[in-house]
Amino acid sequence: MKLLQSLLAQLENSQWQSPQTLQAMQFERFAQLAAHAWRHSPFFRLRFEQAGFDLNQVWTPEDFSRIPLLTRSELMLQEEHIRCHAIPSDHGQTYRMQTSGSTGQVVSLQRTDATQRYWLAIAMREHQWHERDFSATLAIIKATTPTMDDPIQAAKIGWGPPASLLLKTGPSFSQPLSMPIAQQAEWLNRINPEYLLTYPTNLSALLDLYESGKAKVPIALQHVRTVGETLHPGLRERCVALGSIDIVDMYSSQELGLIALQCPDSGLYHTQDENLIVEVLDEQGQPCVQGEVGRIVITDLHNYATPLIRYEIRDYAEAGPSCSCGRGLGTLKRIMGRRRNMVTLPDGSKHWPLVGAHRYREVADIRQYQAIQHGLDDIEIRLLVSPLTQVQEESIATLAHQALGHPFKLRFSYFEHELPGSGNGKFEEFISLLP
Ligand SMILES: [Zn+2]
Repeated sequence: MKLLQSLLAQLENSQWQSPQTLQAMQFERFAQLAAHAWRHSPFFRLRFEQAGFDLNQVWTPEDFSRIPLLTRSELMLQEEHIRCHAIPSDHGQTYRMQTSGSTGQVVSLQRTDATQRYWLAIAMREHQWHERDFSATLAIIKATTPTMDDPIQAAKIGWGPPASLLLKTGPSFSQPLSMPIAQQAEWLNRINPEYLLTYPTNLSALLDLYESGKAKVPIALQHVRTVGETLHPGLRERCVALGSIDIVDMYSSQELGLIALQCPDSGLYHTQDENLIVEVLDEQGQPCVQGEVGRIVITDLHNYATPLIRYEIRDYAEAGPSCSCGRGLGTLKRIMGRRRNMVTLPDGSKHWPLVGAHRYREVADIRQYQAIQHGLDDIEIRLLVSPLTQVQEESIATLAHQALGHPFKLRFSYFEHELPGSGNGKFEEFISLLP
């Protein structure tokens, strides 16, 4: 707890340092991590040697950019060679963790008390940036959360770590994501929370109910925090339209913890530079300039158990400008998600389709949708709804063509219960199956 408080105090100060000072601090930390990995990780020792580095390397950004990327499949297949045989005693215990991938690719790695402390401190920083009222009621709807519906218990457990470790909080109630949407809406009205934490897709389904008048927005609800999936701009507008409910998004991963938090002033995503080196790289591996979209590559400066050095997390983002708030932390303008979420036009060009923003529900009572690209001119539209009439299909096709940016040949598939792949909190509204 003392360690957490002192880390929080450090972060409070370091966020206002200049980008140059923060970068110097990152490379100091990276040099220590690299020396540790050299000594204790067979995988990284070989990787550094093959790239021509030595143990006493004075790391410059140029040297750093020559380290080959660590791919997800390397992490999956070679974790036991990546893992360090020893960790410094002040990093505490190690924990084994596994990611639940929606594609069946499970990554397993070690984290430590030290990485956990950064996770907690950055989660607390997020509360502080957004000036949360810690006495408020929190409702959580997430994949793995158990039901917590008893007011006495909910008050006793409070918001959970980190807030509950540091101060007294209001109650937190929770339900698993498997609860049907209409029941979620009913439950939220009963709990009447100020804050809701959930995934964008689940929020979108709740908004559908509110917009159609089938359920009422909880009176107290002020602010939704979204995690775990890409947040599309349409969702923010829909929340505002429902009575100025604010959305704050976080970019995180199970392997790395909290990667970027939204700035309370500008809405840009601030990378958590004290803990991670976050790069956005173009096709040639060069850093993207502001406004360019590239793949995200991350180095965890504090994981001395399974070092993640230039780890390709497989998400894409738009590089952001420096922020008007005065913080020296880097920014991302938008998080785009996975490459397989890009649509390919018949001429071979690719872009991210507009998802989450169009109004299929104006055509029919569509509860969930997904588009799957099977070929250059072959897109399957999957809908959770009873089969549509030809006129309705034509209206959906018009909306889908706008969203996809091309008049693709479409075929419709209908589902009764849920779309395949839903329910694990990582639902993707567009998937390309092209190689
Ligand atoms: Zn800012």
